[in-house]
Amino acid sequence: MLPPEPKKSSPAPPAGRGEAMPVLQRPVTSLRGVGAERAKQLARLDIHTVEDLLLHRPRRYEDRRHFRAIAELTRDEAATARGTIVAQGLKRFRGGAKSVFEFVLDDGTARLHCRWWNLPFMEKYFAVGDEVFVFGKLVETKPRTMDHPETEVIETGEESFIHINRLAPVYPLTEGLPQRWLRGLIWRTLEKFESQFVEPKPAPDSKTFPTRANAVRMIHFPEALADVEIARRRLALDEFVAWQCEMQLRRRNFEAKSRALPCGGDNRLMKPFLAGLGFKLTHAQTNVLREIRMDLGGQPSPGGFGSASAHPMRRLLQGDVGSGKTVVAACTALMALESGFTGALMAPTEILAEQHFRNFQKWFKPLGIKVQLQTGSHKPAGSRESRVESPSRHPPATLDSRPPTLFIGTHALLTSGFDLSKLGLVVIDEQHKFGVAQREQLVRKGNYPHLLVMTATPIPRTLGLTLYGDLDVSVIDEMPAGRGRVKTFVRAADKLPKVWEFIREKITAGRQAYVVYPRVEEQDTANDLKAVTREFENVRRSLAPFRVGLLHGRLPGREKEDVMAAFRANQIQALVATALIEVGLDVPNATVLLIENAERFGLAQLHQLRGRIGRGAHESFCILISSARTDEARERLRVLEETTDGFRIAEADLKLRGPGELLGQRQSGLPRFRFGNLTEDLDLIRRARELAAQTPGGVPEKI
Ligand code: ADP
Ligand code: MG
Repeated sequence: MLPPEPKKSSPAPPAGRGEAMPVLQRPVTSLRGVGAERAKQLARLDIHTVEDLLLHRPRRYEDRRHFRAIAELTRDEAATARGTIVAQGLKRFRGGAKSVFEFVLDDGTARLHCRWWNLPFMEKYFAVGDEVFVFGKLVETKPRTMDHPETEVIETGEESFIHINRLAPVYPLTEGLPQRWLRGLIWRTLEKFESQFVEPKPAPDSKTFPTRANAVRMIHFPEALADVEIARRRLALDEFVAWQCEMQLRRRNFEAKSRALPCGGDNRLMKPFLAGLGFKLTHAQTNVLREIRMDLGGQPSPGGFGSASAHPMRRLLQGDVGSGKTVVAACTALMALESGFTGALMAPTEILAEQHFRNFQKWFKPLGIKVQLQTGSHKPAGSRESRVESPSRHPPATLDSRPPTLFIGTHALLTSGFDLSKLGLVVIDEQHKFGVAQREQLVRKGNYPHLLVMTATPIPRTLGLTLYGDLDVSVIDEMPAGRGRVKTFVRAADKLPKVWEFIREKITAGRQAYVVYPRVEEQDTANDLKAVTREFENVRRSLAPFRVGLLHGRLPGREKEDVMAAFRANQIQALVATALIEVGLDVPNATVLLIENAERFGLAQLHQLRGRIGRGAHESFCILISSARTDEARERLRVLEETTDGFRIAEADLKLRGPGELLGQRQSGLPRFRFGNLTEDLDLIRRARELAAQTPGGVPEKI
């Protein structure tokens, strides 16, 4: 998804009827020399309008003022050389099924053989006597040879100044689209329409940033390589501003349309709840609850968007694994319930929903609150498969004595028919596991309920500001006291016998263990299943006579539940599982986590998994078995040995794998930025927020 491009306006006087479409928005076919065929090729590069064309970002730049002598080309570094073709030919072999086309280039210092395998038509593009640029690395030095180099035949005469004797942009191409043609088109289009890129109001400060028009020119035809980054930063800033404006606009629309339901509560349930909880809330939890209460009570929140109108809460709660977000969710639900509304809590997996169900029942039943579970395996009372909170013991409430209700479930909640008229609060746990669309779907139910989304994936600040720009953010930055330490070790697979010995020791001492195998796909696949089932047998043998359970996504809901119940009750001492257990599970007696093939997980995910242990008072141990051959993969895992700080781990993960991987690009709802870099551009994102905030109406007047 692209960020909706900000509204452009041509410098032409007031809009009237029949005003021509702004030049930059016109289709590329409005340009001379672009016919239907070329337009089709450009469309494959996502270039549809004149503006798309002028924002097509060069892949690299070639310094065509200085060349590498062919005699000095190496195997290690790609470089550009320039020379004349002195011989060429096509050789066919295997009865014509295979071929190699080759030309020999001479620049006076040495000769270079350039080869293309099985692309016989290359022959058509070159002739002896042609002057050619080639870009690549040597694959052989005797004779000097390049395979499939990038090339461009030098044509002198008209427009040659665009292509030679300068830093020349090299663009991403598509089949049939020549580099030189595209460069020429962009040059001519810039000459004509560069001035159409007008400055927005407010404009970024002109000491730090070139104008947008200059930046567009510089990104294509820089005078010096350093100009490229200067131009990129300006164009990235504009992208971030557009995105922030979009989010602020969304936020303002929402605030204008919606009224907050009064859900502040009166403490009559909260007081007994906190008294019976068995522990005191941390300062961080208390502070967050204060912010939430202000939102629910309909007061503008400090650090919020500051609108005086009382709009529903839109809050992201960030807290590292084990920081105690569930209790915060419970307290928030109580506020809504005290106020006479119902609440809904959505979790990404059935076993997590079940765990919440059990906890909330334990907490809420004594308070006279009904808790209802709705997952794929559990349908609410009334439907035939219903098996909700043991109906035999708790007959469904009659209509007139309907107690305040909290609904808990998976995405199945989205399709359920629970009574929405009284829905006051939606809580989404582990929200990074849900798509933005799903979040919206649930929130749109009912009458603009308050929304609390919780995540333990510590989002690096760049991403947080970009992705959650329309949410207020609360952070739990403190762990409950009395937690045992978690020690982490990265080990090679040959250490496994010792590791099993260690785990047996811990189990003998009364503790429990998780053993995790990677899940490759989003869902457990048949192959994963085979692997994990086989390993299950191994683990059983390694840990006999202790009892071992198996948990994976393909088990029927009922069986998952039974396995979890047995593990919780320590009837099973070790649990072999896929990464299904990544989110949320809370069994404080489990203190050992063994992860095999750990290199196949992202760091953030490993950190989440590690959150399954260290939940009780005992010291815990996370053992990462790496079967990776490369040092690099093992080094990556060392970050986890060094720190338990989720933010540091997320930053490292973002650097290593990029935002798409970290968040799951499909789900993240992130726009595709052409110039913005979510790993590096924190300062620009901050600046963009300020600029967007100064932009009246949330839409930049001009960009
Ligand atoms: P997460 O933030 O990862 O969802 P949980 O809400 O599952 O963490 O909490 C982890 C464990 O810590 C639970 O057993 C919970 O009961 C306990 N806990 C939460 N808050 C506190 C606290 N203030 N003091 C002691 N234990 C707490
Ligand atoms: Mg949790």
